[in-house]
Amino acid sequence: DEVRKRFITGSKLGEGTYAIVYSGHYREDPSSLVAIKKIKVNQDYKDGIAMDAIREIKFLSELEHPNVIKLHAVFSTKDQNISLVLEHLPLGDLETLWKTHTISYTSADIKAWANMLAQAVWFCHENFILHRDIKGNNLLIAADGTVKLADFGLARSFADPGRIMTYNVITRFYRPPELLLGARHYGGGVDVWSMGVVIAELAIREWFLPSETDFQQLCIIYDVFGTPTEETWPGVSQFQFYTAPDNTPAPSLTLNSSAANGNPSQNTSQPGLKRAQPLGYWRNRFPLLGEDGIDLIRGMLTLDPLKRLSARAVLDHRYWTNAPRPTKKEDLPRQG
Ligand code: ADP
Repeated sequence: DEVRKRFITGSKLGEGTYAIVYSGHYREDPSSLVAIKKIKVNQDYKDGIAMDAIREIKFLSELEHPNVIKLHAVFSTKDQNISLVLEHLPLGDLETLWKTHTISYTSADIKAWANMLAQAVWFCHENFILHRDIKGNNLLIAADGTVKLADFGLARSFADPGRIMTYNVITRFYRPPELLLGARHYGGGVDVWSMGVVIAELAIREWFLPSETDFQQLCIIYDVFGTPTEETWPGVSQFQFYTAPDNTPAPSLTLNSSAANGNPSQNTSQPGLKRAQPLGYWRNRFPLLGEDGIDLIRGMLTLDPLKRLSARAVLDHRYWTNAPRPTKKEDLPRQG
């Protein structure tokens, strides 16, 4: 109650799956804006939703970094709901940015946004926290142009590598192959894959790996990166949802025709052995990333999580220091 009284709640900013977000400010200073995220308590989901809120509170209260959303306070409301008082980030998110075609941006701008994302992911991993829901829509933009990683409702600690973990995390387009294959043990690589997809989307201004089902998601990943085999990804055949590719060409199982035939079922369909796209595909599709940027995202989007770049290796890549230099955050294009 004491904490609640320190804040004034204002107008509604938006609504998500498990919360309604209001603007607000500290009572004593109307210029100190905050976002107040009031957790929806639905009878059916009460325990699960509360768990998301507790995770978000636990992880955010441990993290302090310029590219991670700040948690100012937590309070409970009169009706027993939980509210999180978060940093106010009014300039939208990275998904809205690439979708807004009235905003034009350059290679150097992409590099600046990507770098702030990479700093955030590295910092989480350095503190043994997996975010597990990295996507453009969870990368919010502060008034000064800084990108901040938000929405820690699915985050968890990976301090205990022996624990069984759920594979049903991460919004599908951003989900790495090991989770689609049913991995029960995984690490920071899951966030690095998602980050690669986000950077690719910024560069092409469209979805990079869109699909309708988890099975289709694997098919579209294999269309670009090739079908994994024991040679390219040792251990891949041990996954619960792995199906060995048949070596005969299977044109009826490409993404487009499977969409036309309805959803292929995991039991009856096997993807044929596909080859990885050559460098020319990347140069054609990602001209804004240049040779260095292409090398970087291919490193982040490596099928075998053990061969994938770590968040540290991402930050050590030459892409960041080679020309063009990333745009200064105050000079980045913005909404409004
Ligand atoms: P979701 O991730 O499902 O969109 P959220 O609960 O995180 O759900 O947020 C809902 C909406 O509220 C966002 O789309 C955004 O418009 C707004 N919002 C969320 N957090 C903030 C914030 N810190 N500052 C300003 N607006 C926010």
